[in-house]
Amino acid sequence: MTPREQIIAKCQEVFATATRLYSVDLTAVGIHFDLVGRAAGYACRRGTRYYMRFNNDMMKREAFDHVLNNTVPHEIAHIVCMMNPSLGRSHNSGWARVCAQLGGNAERCHKEDVVYGKGTTYEYTSSTGHTHRFSQVIHRKIQAGLATYTLKGGKGRIDRTSAHSVVGHQGRTLAEPIVKKAATVTAPVQAVIPTAPVRLPTFHIGAPVAPVVAKPATSFAGASKASIARAIMLAGHTRGMSYEDVITAIMAATGHERQLARATYKANAPKVGIPVQ
Ligand SMILES: [Zn+2]
Repeated sequence: MTPREQIIAKCQEVFATATRLYSVDLTAVGIHFDLVGRAAGYACRRGTRYYMRFNNDMMKREAFDHVLNNTVPHEIAHIVCMMNPSLGRSHNSGWARVCAQLGGNAERCHKEDVVYGKGTTYEYTSSTGHTHRFSQVIHRKIQAGLATYTLKGGKGRIDRTSAHSVVGHQGRTLAEPIVKKAATVTAPVQAVIPTAPVRLPTFHIGAPVAPVVAKPATSFAGASKASIARAIMLAGHTRGMSYEDVITAIMAATGHERQLARATYKANAPKVGIPVQ
């Protein structure tokens, strides 16, 4: 079987499990291989139609096993939750339960809920599409170019060019992540600190709180509003955020009115390779 055929077969297998467990009809869910960028997969609803997109580039690389065994259940868990919102939404604990039941990496699903007790928690996406959370101390080192991380188990590399978002603050998990623009520099990396799995000091699994709105001037200094919007769209895509949540994030980051944020989305979607709404 080709890698694509393997992914499709895995989808059919997980669809069958999901149908048995949650009585959802997944027969019409589209499976596409047209995703570009850092995201391994993406689940989406357009009107009454559901579909998943996988990163064709990651079919050929070391990321393939991850896509097959984790991204497939991860994205299908999103579809199941979209079809039956009482099960969960976004990356909350309900969604994580569905993900684990469908054979996704429960540890990873669980880790997505962990935030540091002190300061801001950042979630980075590695070169192979894995996510990893860091404290603000480590985040500052990464952003200063003083540290890069190679995740254990072949889970890819993280450096200052990696997509990342704010997922928690002072022990609370944000209802929606605040997407940050990744640095676009390609300067040589100064130090490589191999990660021991990051030791979490104190953490709590907090109740969702309203997202903190990032001030454009501080978060995105020097970036054009269009490039900020593109970064948000791409990272929102990675995280399976809804179109409306992405628009809201663009408005918060750029100061655009809703209409202008929508127009910006439409104009930039083809540039980052995501569907125009
Ligand atoms: Zn997701």
